[in-house]
Amino acid sequence: MMKMKQWFWLLLLLVCVQPVGARRSERKARLRMQERAAACDSVRSLIYMIGDGMGLAHVSLLQISEGYENRVAFDRAENIALIRSYSANNRVTDSGAAGTALATGHKTNNDMLGVLPDSTAVESMMEKAVRRGMTTGIVTTCYINHATPGAFYGHQIYRRTLEPIADQFVASGIDVAFGGGRRYFSSVREDGRTPVERLREKGYRVIDSLSQADTIRSGRVVGLFASKHLPYAHKGRGNYLPEAVDKALEILSNNAEARNSGFMLMVEGSMIDYVSHDNDAEAIVAEMRDFNRAVRAAMDFVDAHPGTLLVVTSDHETGGLTLPSGDADFSKAESGVLTVFGSTSHTAVMLPVYLYGTGAERINGVMENTELANRLMTLLGLE
Ligand SMILES: [Zn+2]
Repeated sequence: MMKMKQWFWLLLLLVCVQPVGARRSERKARLRMQERAAACDSVRSLIYMIGDGMGLAHVSLLQISEGYENRVAFDRAENIALIRSYSANNRVTDSGAAGTALATGHKTNNDMLGVLPDSTAVESMMEKAVRRGMTTGIVTTCYINHATPGAFYGHQIYRRTLEPIADQFVASGIDVAFGGGRRYFSSVREDGRTPVERLREKGYRVIDSLSQADTIRSGRVVGLFASKHLPYAHKGRGNYLPEAVDKALEILSNNAEARNSGFMLMVEGSMIDYVSHDNDAEAIVAEMRDFNRAVRAAMDFVDAHPGTLLVVTSDHETGGLTLPSGDADFSKAESGVLTVFGSTSHTAVMLPVYLYGTGAERINGVMENTELANRLMTLLGLE
């Protein structure tokens, strides 16, 4: 018997309103990509977006909920790839091992963060970028010392050692971080100071609402906007994620100009995973719409800033989401699309990678999540 929740949703008209316009813009995008490939433009900056728990069905659900006549930001991708997400010790990865793979180019065991299975710390692409003088940042909707953002600067045998990961952020040299986790940055450490105090000593502005960044155009800033996670999209997070992406890109591009360097920004749509663990289709749509707005903001930035590559991918699929027909009898007209969940946990399916901007034509095919990371580091000259 199908659960009630599974019968949720939706049918929308399959009318394409402006097919000619859409074809023209696709042709233009292809031409742009071919021109860039011919010119062999160098990738100076990277925006790396990770929808935590986001599988292809999540993107498909977004497309259906928006209506096929309305193209979502993901549909603007200029190239695509698929990645395999298994960890070093499990065919189904957790966020720690998957984040480590995407950030460092190395597979590790589930529950580990920024270390190899033998516990050796391994440098992430963001740490390499800091070392090369690039300006770097993180935007997330969970706490900034959580697994996915933490994999870009943290090194722990156990990913839930949250205070040590916060301390590693303080030492990381990352210029911008927006997210939650104030409680992990506010407790007094052995030296008698809090991570917030140590950040201020290092010249960071530490803010507790995004509006406080309105007058900040460059430099180092850490926004701790919640004690732990930010609210869910369907519970009042508002336009935080796309606005935080815009602000981080403004600060990082100004920093990059001042330093004559590139930048790297990691953006996580964290709560897609949480609502997928809950098998809550309505909340998934809200999180995907929010992440889609953030992807659109990043794509608009890329359009105006040649030399920037945008990569949108996922660490693993959560929920085993499928979108079957509401009726098996296909002699009938459209019978709606159901949302059916096969799991309350993570799954082993391959994950989409969407590429846009300079260098987009240089990554495609089926690869390991680690190979994606390694190819990005090569494109940025970080190897
Ligand atoms: Zn995850």
